[in-house]
Amino acid sequence: MKARLVVIGAGIGGLTTAAVLARSGLDVTVLEAHVSPGGCAATYFHQGYRFDAGATLAGGFYPGGPMARVAQAAGIEAWPVRPADSAMCVHLPDGTSITRHAGDSRWEEIRSLLGAGAERFFRWQEQTADALWDLALRLLPWPPQSVGQMGATLASGMPWLFSQAALSWPALGLDAFRPVAAHLAGASERLRLLVDGQLLISAQATSQHANALYGAAALDLPRRGVVHLAGGIGAIAETLVDAIRRHGGRVVYRQEATRIRMRAGRPEAVETKRGDVFPADLVFANLTPWNAAELLGEDLPPALRRLGPLPPDAWGAFVVYVGLDGASLPEGLPLHQQIIRRRPLGEGNSVFASLSPAWDARRAPPGHRALTLSTHTRLADWWRMAEQDRPAYEAQKAAMTEKLLAAAEAAIPGLRRSARLVLPGTPLTFQRFTRRKSGWVGGFPQTGLLRTHGPRLGPNLWLVGDSIFPGQSIAAVALGGLSVAQMVSRRLKTIEETTNLGEKESIP
Ligand SMILES: Cc1cc2nc3c(=O)[nH]c(=O)nc-3n(C[C@H](O)[C@H](O)[C@H](O)COP(=O)(O)OP(=O)(O)OC[C@H]3O[C@@H](n4cnc5c(N)ncnc54)[C@H](O)[C@@H]3O)c2cc1C
Repeated sequence: MKARLVVIGAGIGGLTTAAVLARSGLDVTVLEAHVSPGGCAATYFHQGYRFDAGATLAGGFYPGGPMARVAQAAGIEAWPVRPADSAMCVHLPDGTSITRHAGDSRWEEIRSLLGAGAERFFRWQEQTADALWDLALRLLPWPPQSVGQMGATLASGMPWLFSQAALSWPALGLDAFRPVAAHLAGASERLRLLVDGQLLISAQATSQHANALYGAAALDLPRRGVVHLAGGIGAIAETLVDAIRRHGGRVVYRQEATRIRMRAGRPEAVETKRGDVFPADLVFANLTPWNAAELLGEDLPPALRRLGPLPPDAWGAFVVYVGLDGASLPEGLPLHQQIIRRRPLGEGNSVFASLSPAWDARRAPPGHRALTLSTHTRLADWWRMAEQDRPAYEAQKAAMTEKLLAAAEAAIPGLRRSARLVLPGTPLTFQRFTRRKSGWVGGFPQTGLLRTHGPRLGPNLWLVGDSIFPGQSIAAVALGGLSVAQMVSRRLKTIEETTNLGEKESIP
């Protein structure tokens, strides 16, 4: 009998794992609570518009990059992408606008707009990022969860280290334990603001807190190039779903898992809200560790027994979806823009704005465009207001909506005049549509090398998604999902060569 694999959640992490394992001939079922796939990287339809729900910027599709690796492993011929000219335009409070792109002319812009020290900073960042992406693509188990994994990490990590002639080992060692800010001593406020804004959206922490190695890798997205997805960002998840089904796997919607039933420390089935039971030899939870713990109840494996509350620096998102009449919008607007108004960043003081491409007729009624605005926000106040003071919650929602629209108007002139539909979403909205605990998004802020959760929760029980290494972003969760699929697939093949997956077997 073939091992039965159940993936809970059709986010990018879960779908990647499912697609790779289905392709290797395994029996895979994905259970998704919502009516469509993608989670934080979904596109949803409302009144003629197709809005990107959370993620809007797609990176990692370059040859040899994370999404190319995933396509290869999942048997996907091509992603439905079009390359973008530049990643985004960043607007600083002093009126400076900086285009973040891959071409060599970036150096001229960096020198002329960001002042002394900026070139030195970005040379360090790019060199470090090159080395770290090379390491990340080797799919080492991180953080190591056993002596064997520690050995594997060292065995692959040492040759990598020796191959990094361009990097100084002592500096690399120091960067493992210090924040990005260590490389910004004496930098202009303009450069610091740019770096902080970019780090907040990519590493979930600003330069004072973001780890230097993670931060350097996270800041590299614009240089590696971004793409536009025809039909919206949800096309990535839809492509993965197609691959799973083509390889004989199943993706079932409106099936919210309510319990992972365990026997003798191993999964035996997944129960759903509709009362269905899916027998399972292996379970992959595309969930936060807190959501996974809820499904396990009293059968918590040791890896989840000391979770405590959500981390104090956990972020939520406040979003505004705007349906726009495109007629009065200026020509040639960048499709992705970051507007930084003041410190502290987040809470509407920094806003990310993504406009659907004019060429993509599927995103909006003729002549219209779909816009997603988002800002980082702390979770606790939203929940306190929602539970204790509903009028305050509604007032805060209205005030934040106005703050985001006002900020975005600076980058998209005529925005409010052209708006035909305005839909705000708070962390409660994210909690409702993605089931993520308290609407926590973005994974663990990348403040330390060992902050992410280990993927193996126990025998035959795995975690995928943005809580495991390498953390948040579409490309990162896809890479994490690929790494877990490969670990499981290797071990499973070895076991299946000698025996069926019986009760005593576990992976690995
Ligand atoms: C506002 C915002 C903006 C972002 N911007 C970008 C960006 O521009 N670029 C980028 O690369 N990344 C961005 N990200 C990050 C990126 O979207 C996430 O890191 C990534 O999509 C998370 O994927 P995941 O695999 O962790 O799954 P999730 O997205 O968390 O999906 C989990 C899935 O599991 C389902 N589920 C949950 N519980 C259950 C259950 N009990 N039973 C069945 N199904 C269940 C949910 O419905 C959901 O579909 C952004 C995130 C947000 C919130």
